[in-house]
Amino acid sequence: MKKYDYLIVGAGLFGAIFAREATNRGKKVLVIDKRSTIAGNVYTEKIEGINVHKYGAHIFHTNNKKVWNYITQFAEFNRFTNSPVANYKGELYSLPFNMYTFNKMWGVVSPDEAIALIEKQRKEIKGEPQNLEEQAISLVGRDIYEKLIKGYTEKQWGRDCKELPAFIIKRLPVRMTFDNNYFNALYQGIPIGGYTKMVERILDGIEVRLETNYLDNKEELCGLAHKIVYTGPIDEYYDFKFGVLEYRSVSFENELIDKPNYQGNAAVNYTDRETPWTRIIEHKWFEFGKDEEGNDLPKTIISREYSTEWKPGDEPYYPVNDEKNNSLYAKYKELADADKNVIFGGRLGVYKYYDMDQIIAAAFDEAEKEFAL
Ligand SMILES: Cc1cc2nc3c(=O)[nH]c(=O)nc-3n(C[C@H](O)[C@H](O)[C@H](O)COP(=O)(O)OP(=O)(O)OC[C@H]3O[C@@H](n4cnc5c(N)ncnc54)[C@H](O)[C@@H]3O)c2cc1C
Repeated sequence: MKKYDYLIVGAGLFGAIFAREATNRGKKVLVIDKRSTIAGNVYTEKIEGINVHKYGAHIFHTNNKKVWNYITQFAEFNRFTNSPVANYKGELYSLPFNMYTFNKMWGVVSPDEAIALIEKQRKEIKGEPQNLEEQAISLVGRDIYEKLIKGYTEKQWGRDCKELPAFIIKRLPVRMTFDNNYFNALYQGIPIGGYTKMVERILDGIEVRLETNYLDNKEELCGLAHKIVYTGPIDEYYDFKFGVLEYRSVSFENELIDKPNYQGNAAVNYTDRETPWTRIIEHKWFEFGKDEEGNDLPKTIISREYSTEWKPGDEPYYPVNDEKNNSLYAKYKELADADKNVIFGGRLGVYKYYDMDQIIAAAFDEAEKEFAL
């Protein structure tokens, strides 16, 4: 006799939502995670009254009304709007590139002036751009490239822009309006009280076992349930038999500072090449510097973010969906498709970068497909 209908490997957003949907349909589920915490990469930890985004800053944004209606059952969202600032050697610019940016860069006040300047600078590149540098200049001109793109991109990729292929940057949106709202999303915000609390509510009443690695106890755990939902890395599931899928990694250096305000904004990107970090996140500004009772928080916590080379064993962050890795993934997917007892889901299970709203939609769709049978 199997005790559970579903064993769900991973208590991240995908696993939690699938577990919720299965439970709502009367199925018995067990959720496990190898970490000591739920919520996967959206995990937030409360330190000094501040919800710290432990695996990188997470800002919820979506145009999908169904997803918004679904997720707001589990949390109330605040009105946070992502408006990052760029710091180039002490000069501050608004992002994404918009009329505030152009006014600061060139002193222009009208869209016509800004367009004329960009058009003039773009002409520097004749013919087909041969590398990322030429591509960026051909899209937005040299000034924006030098101050706001070059250093940041080189830190992200660990390589000179002249050595990076042009196709990495297809488009660089420029706004000829005074609009600092980074995401063009109908719905945007941060769950009040943090993401962990939101995932706790999704998992309400569901059995969860933490510090339990599926791959270390595969046989025993498999014996407990009729079907598995696996949201860990697909290559690891198959013991890397075809090779290792690559990721890009990020590392974080957190600092508690005994003053109320460090940089006055949630995200500041350092766009010069010399500063070793790519950006600094000041977590309290995701919730306007206040605790849940509306009191001002006396201290602050910042995270310096560094783009690092990934090696097997490191935390996987961004899948590298190039030709080599995609064809390796295709081989694993073939095995997964034949494995009728296992559903592979989530960003690691299908080796694809997904924003949170896409993960929520994918988990919801997967559950609808599964339970329509
Ligand atoms: C740096 C960064 C910033 C991001 N910022 C944003 C943002 O601002 N907005 C946005 O919408 N999205 C953002 N995202 C995307 C967001 O993090 C993902 O959409 C979401 O977390 C994916 O959820 P998931 O359940 O698929 O994966 P995960 O959250 O990774 O969950 C998978 C879980 O499976 C567990 N697991 C793995 N293997 C095993 C095993 N063998 N046994 C047991 N447990 C296992 C892991 O411990 C983990 O808890 C960001 C991503 C990154 C990397």
